[in-house]
Amino acid sequence: MRENQLLAHIHARSADLVAAFGEVVVGPGDDCAVVRAGTGSLLLLTVDQLVEGRHFAADAAAAEIAHKAIARSISDIAAMGGTPAWALATGLLPRHYERADELFDAMSAAARQMGAPLVGGDIATWDGALALTCTVGGAPHPARGPVLRAGARPGDDLWVTGRIGGSLRSGRHLRFVPRTTIGAWLCDALGPALHAMIDISDGVGVDSARLAAASGIRAVIDLPRIPLHDGVVDPLAAIGEGEDYELLFAVAPGSALPPQAPDGTPLTRIGRCAEGSGCIALDSGGHEHDCAHRGWEHA
Ligand SMILES: [Mg+2]
Repeated sequence: MRENQLLAHIHARSADLVAAFGEVVVGPGDDCAVVRAGTGSLLLLTVDQLVEGRHFAADAAAAEIAHKAIARSISDIAAMGGTPAWALATGLLPRHYERADELFDAMSAAARQMGAPLVGGDIATWDGALALTCTVGGAPHPARGPVLRAGARPGDDLWVTGRIGGSLRSGRHLRFVPRTTIGAWLCDALGPALHAMIDISDGVGVDSARLAAASGIRAVIDLPRIPLHDGVVDPLAAIGEGEDYELLFAVAPGSALPPQAPDGTPLTRIGRCAEGSGCIALDSGGHEHDCAHRGWEHA
């Protein structure tokens, strides 16, 4: 079963959660769940796992593994425009694993540095490879509230932060900086004109298609506009690679954004939202390329 099919199965079986459980505001299917924190305030929650041989190579440094384990979950908080607050982690360690102390120290340091200190967790050992899970809780933007994948409308512009492509080849997937500061700044700058947002974990193509599906629009990407990392030359290939961890967001037409965020990160308009469904990319010759599966799909 492909990951997307399994996720669709889970989302369909979870569709009644918001109606049946008063504390659930947004259930499975977005970057984070949104739940009521008891006093009426909202809490963003996300969990991700990191598996040796799948998300990092066995010879990766402990500091890199630790950073990625925390940063992937923080990126989902960024995708909602939120601010991370705390983290929980579990480690499934190979029996006789010798880097456990080093790994914990690195995870603890990374979590603190990203504003989400580790407040608990669990450790087990087994005969398989190293696997880590990280849960992060955070607060939505106080004025804008959680920015969902749903909310893009026909006529909106589609933007990305940063540059795209070559993350796995360059090793950047092990040291990327989650875009929490920019996500919150976009909420400040755009307010309700920031219609929808997602982080690019699996590829600009497939993640645009996910935003389009959640919003009920058709995403149209102009390939020549894709901002590429140095050494990356093919935008169609680049939007099919994963692990960029940039933000893709839909903005009301006519909203002004500067070419860079306050920290110097480029902001680029890469396309638009139209009536319809799905996601296509237009190359410089005007040819259409279907994006629905342009990305990393976990088999
Ligand atoms: Mg995500």
